Amino acid sequence: MPDTHIIDKIAILKQTFDGLTDDELSDLAKLTHLTSYPEGHILCREGAFEEVFYIVADGQAVITKKISDHESERVLRNAGPGDFVGEMALIQNAPRAATVRAVTECTVLEMGKSDFESMLRRSPRMALSIIRTTLSRMRANDQMAIQDLQRTNKLLRVLDRNKLEFIQVAAHELRTPLTVLKGYVNVMKSLPQMKDNAAIAEIMDGINKGAERMHEIVNMMLDVTRIDNDTLRIVPSPVPIRSVVNEVVHDFSKGFAERNIAASVEHAEDTPMINADPTLVQKALYHLIMNAIKYTPDGGQITIRTRPVKMERDRPGVEVSIKDTGIGLDSEHQELIFEKFYQVGSVALHSSSKTAFKGGGPGLGLAIARGVARAHGGKIWVESAGHDETHFPGSTFYLQLPLNPPAA
Ligand code: ADP
Repeated sequence: MPDTHIIDKIAILKQTFDGLTDDELSDLAKLTHLTSYPEGHILCREGAFEEVFYIVADGQAVITKKISDHESERVLRNAGPGDFVGEMALIQNAPRAATVRAVTECTVLEMGKSDFESMLRRSPRMALSIIRTTLSRMRANDQMAIQDLQRTNKLLRVLDRNKLEFIQVAAHELRTPLTVLKGYVNVMKSLPQMKDNAAIAEIMDGINKGAERMHEIVNMMLDVTRIDNDTLRIVPSPVPIRSVVNEVVHDFSKGFAERNIAASVEHAEDTPMINADPTLVQKALYHLIMNAIKYTPDGGQITIRTRPVKMERDRPGVEVSIKDTGIGLDSEHQELIFEKFYQVGSVALHSSSKTAFKGGGPGLGLAIARGVARAHGGKIWVESAGHDETHFPGSTFYLQLPLNPPAA
């Protein structure tokens, strides 16, 4: 460790600040005092309100920042002789944004907050030098954060792809034995011995229903892989959207009745036909209406409306809205629910019924509905005053589709 008496303050200050006059340098030297700290000493502690500005005269320090609770501290940079640290919190009157730790024995020039501020007022050259250095450090930090984000995004894309490949393989692997199972059930049902046995017929029905539901989920898995692989091709034809809505609502008659939910459909008279893929539009509506039933308590009300709308850039389109009197959705989930597998809260309540109240599903319905909307150049979103299982504020899902899908 150098003897602090023989460290030349002026030489260090010259190295730190460009273009200061001799008078400024000697003023500055008078306001600083040299102190030595052992290795491991913390000069600045992230989050603390501290009032000292440091210039490293000898030794090395490291500047680190805590990024999250799950990660250890991230090294932002190292500081050696001529580098200053601790200026940001003093200028901003804010807690320290990072921790500075001596990694060797360190000798520093220290300056208190009031002297630092009066020096900044007296010496525009020093102020400018600090601004320049601080800005270039901030840019370097930005650059580091951007690279971090790019790396993380790349990793997430790879993980997502792996997940998708797994879903695809699992769906294909499940489809064959399911088809075999359903085939055998049909064969068994047609056997004469089975026909007169009500108990066995009921069991067969149960097996069949379970297999149907599994088939439906396997198909949803395949739909979602197509959507995510961008291989969802639409085959447009004229679609009478009002009739499609009526049919889907009709298909859920049993669900509405079982759950004592009143469904009403209101079509604006001028709701036009659209050019769209009828199977996909039907799928999107199916998931939206099924969810409305699932997340509405018994005795609730679901209103489905259609109307013509002007979409962005004045494109004509239709809107289908599905309004329920269900549990509602907090704003923090309103975008995320359209991601595959995203479910709000815990999914303890899994049920074999598609329409049981809060019966958990695979978390794919809305991802499919959004994929359908996007493939048609349309959009989908939800509005809700929030989640409340006492007052049931409800949610309204909107699906807008243009009259003509974009050219492939
Ligand atoms: P799931 O198979 O879980 O129903 P979805 O993709 O269809 O998957 O929906 C994702 C999540 O969005 C659901 O788990 C639920 O939390 C929420 N959600 C969907 N529709 C509604 C609704 N009408 N009211 C309240 N929450 C809803």
